[in-house]
Amino acid sequence: MKFHLLTIFPGFFDGPFRYGVVARAGVEVHIHDLRDWTNDPHRTVDDRPFGGGEGMVLKPEPIFAAVETIWPERHEKQKVILLSAQGRRFSQQIARELLENEELLLICGRYEGVDERVAEHLADDELSIGDYVLSGGELAAAVIVDTIARLLPGVVGNSDSTVNESFERGILDCPQWTRPAEFRGWKAPEILLGGNHAEIRKWRQQAAMEKTTRLRPDLLARLAK
Ligand code: SAM
Repeated sequence: MKFHLLTIFPGFFDGPFRYGVVARAGVEVHIHDLRDWTNDPHRTVDDRPFGGGEGMVLKPEPIFAAVETIWPERHEKQKVILLSAQGRRFSQQIARELLENEELLLICGRYEGVDERVAEHLADDELSIGDYVLSGGELAAAVIVDTIARLLPGVVGNSDSTVNESFERGILDCPQWTRPAEFRGWKAPEILLGGNHAEIRKWRQQAAMEKTTRLRPDLLARLAK
């Protein structure tokens, strides 16, 4: 799968993508500097908002020009996503849906946001990573790329390690322990130290339900619908 990121801070991704799943084979990430699609000496990408108010807004022209240069003709497995606090909330399920595509182009907003014509006439989807306001779309883009990349075949060593993960079955993953079996007087559950795999599976399912009930009852309410 191929990702394109459109940003005014191309250097931002040096850190997040140098480590972990995105650095592994099969994940192609192209970073595009939005200023490359400006025509003035100052390489202007923003302007004041119509109607007045604080801050600046990213202009539509460089964003449309960038997308139309990267994909002169777009096919249905190439999707443009605008990162926005106002978008639908990104989730594991949306990550699985996006996995059906061959290429994704993520537009990172900055300042007070992006001219609304980008959401209305260019983006296929507008996604938020949560109900809070970041100062730019770059962090959100890194979150989305990382989440999708680890679902790609062969990226995470054992594909079973993604199917039982939190949110995949509508509940949280089970809690985990490792050596030492006793640490500062706190013991790992006895059942996990034995080799009865059927019993361990059953116990883990109950532990996952218990943790979901305690920390994310909203997930269970959603399952019940
Ligand atoms: N004025 C906007 C609002 O209140 O909805 C916030 C703009 S924010 C300071 C600048 C950029 O950060 C946005 O254009 C978007 O690309 C990104 N951003 C902020 N919060 C985000 C979130 N929760 N999810 C995804 N992107 C976000």
